[in-house]
This record gives sequence, C-alpha cells and structure tokens, in this order.
Amino acid sequence: MPGRRYTIVVADRTTGVVRRITVSARPVIAAVCAVASLPVLIGVGAAWKARADVAGLYASRQALQTENASYRTATQSLAGEIDSLQSAIADLGAKSRLDPNLARAMDRLPALVKARAMGGAATTERTVGDSENYTDTLSAFATPEDTFGLLRSLLGGIQSRLVDVKKTVDRRNALATATPSLWPINGWITSGMGYREDPINGGADFHPGLDIAGDRGEPVHVTAAGVVKQAGYDGGGYGNLVTVDHGFGLQTRYGHLLSYNVKAGDKVKRGDVIGRVGNTGRSTGYHLHYEVLANGRLLNPLQLLTQQRPRAQ
Ligand SMILES: [Zn+2]
Repeated sequence: MPGRRYTIVVADRTTGVVRRITVSARPVIAAVCAVASLPVLIGVGAAWKARADVAGLYASRQALQTENASYRTATQSLAGEIDSLQSAIADLGAKSRLDPNLARAMDRLPALVKARAMGGAATTERTVGDSENYTDTLSAFATPEDTFGLLRSLLGGIQSRLVDVKKTVDRRNALATATPSLWPINGWITSGMGYREDPINGGADFHPGLDIAGDRGEPVHVTAAGVVKQAGYDGGGYGNLVTVDHGFGLQTRYGHLLSYNVKAGDKVKRGDVIGRVGNTGRSTGYHLHYEVLANGRLLNPLQLLTQQRPRAQ
C-alpha cells in the first residue's frame, strides 16, 4: 500500500486527447492530513498563547500584590511617624504655655541674661519655606515611591525642627523657673531701690534693693528656683542674709532675717520658705531687704515682681 502509485486519466471528449497523471499515495495522504490538522494546530497555538498570557497576568498580579504590601507597610510607618510627631507637638504645646505674669517678668530680664539662657546665640526662626509648597511638589511626582520618599523626608525635616524647638522651649522654661518673679513676702514697699536719705545717719545713701514691711517671724519665700549660695550673718549691715543663685547669672538676696532655715548648697523651688522676717543688721524695724543681681549688677527687683501682688497697695 505505501508503495502504490495511481494514474488519473483525463480525456477530452472533443479532441480525444488523453492526459495521464500518475501520483503516489504517500504525498497525497500527507497533504490531506496536513490540511485536516491545520485547525487543530491553530487551536493548540491559541491555547498555548492564552496560557502564556495568563501566566504573565499572574506574575504581574503577584508583583502588584508585593508592591501593594510594601506601600501598606510604608503607609503604616508614615502613619506611625505622624502619630509620634503629633504627640511631640502636643507635648511641646503643653510645655510652651507660660504663666503670662511670669512671661512678663522674663521679658524684663537683661538681654545678656536672656542670651545666656538661650545658649548665647540668637535664635533665628528658620523659615518654613522648605516645606510650604510640598503639596505642589507632591503632585509633581509621578510614582508613589517618589511621593513616599518626599513625605518621609518632609517628616524627617519636621522632626528635626521639633527637636530644635523643644530645645528652645526647654531653655526658655529653665529661664522662666530661674526668673525672680514672686513677691518674697506680702507687704508695703517702705523703700525702693535708688538714692535716698540714710535711715540711720541721715546722709546720702544708695539703697540697693527693696524694703518690704513685714511682721516679725513672717515666712520669707524664695522668688525663683535655685541653689542657696550662702546663708549666715553678714557683718556689712544685712544681718542674717540668705543669697540664692538661680543660674543664668541671676542671684537674689534676703536680708535682716530673724532666722533662716537653709544652708549653702540647698536646692530651692520658687515659693519655698527660706527664713523669717527680722530686724537684724543695719535695720530700723521689722522688714525684708530684697535684692536682685544679674551678672553681678543690681537690678530693680520691683520690675520683676509680677507674681502675687502685695496684700495692701
Ligand atoms: Zn533695704
């Protein structure tokens, strides 16, 4: 059968010409088979291509899922950073609230004292220009990576700015704690700071502080936080004298005390009782002599006494 050959005879009825075509079976069967299998081959090809397409889709879906997960992680970490920033800002807000009277006293401190409190350098407010147009900048970025990157660097910038602001607030609060703003006793001012007639010999006399009238034994309150520099009897006329160092070059002195209940090195808070009103030293009646020094120079204590008014005006 495979070796068989066939002859096809074609005869023209009019002319009587006869043509013979001899064919072998094998190529004919092969051609028929090829034609018959063509649709199957096309189908198989299409199926194969579809499978490849589906595999490609699966791969891109997986890549998208991975990407999505990484964005979710990035978003979560950003949200965490924003949370911590918000609590830092809230904390700072609470810290930056000052008693307005105390703030007034602080404003009246000599510039040198304020400069020392702020670390010597003037605090220049950095402009927010590096972040003010960030929404425009954000929309200019095409990919989420760019957006996340920019957001992260913005947050980093805000964070470091917050650290700076916190330092400034902490320094200001330290100065506020050290500002002698509280009345040491409630009473009449019997003598202000400046030149006056000497109460004992009638001559010209410079009075270096405030005299505030008080009752014998009345408690004397320290006017700001600090460390007791010295407590003892002063032969120069102050009698029993307590000197408190508040830092930043600020000192206060409390003279003519009946007694004192602190010693050098003691830490005191604003309002602590350090002694009792007396009449010791060069004094003509029960009163407190109160002095404020900034970097060794006398300040008028009255301009700083913004907290708690005297009982009588
Ligand atoms: Zn005095």
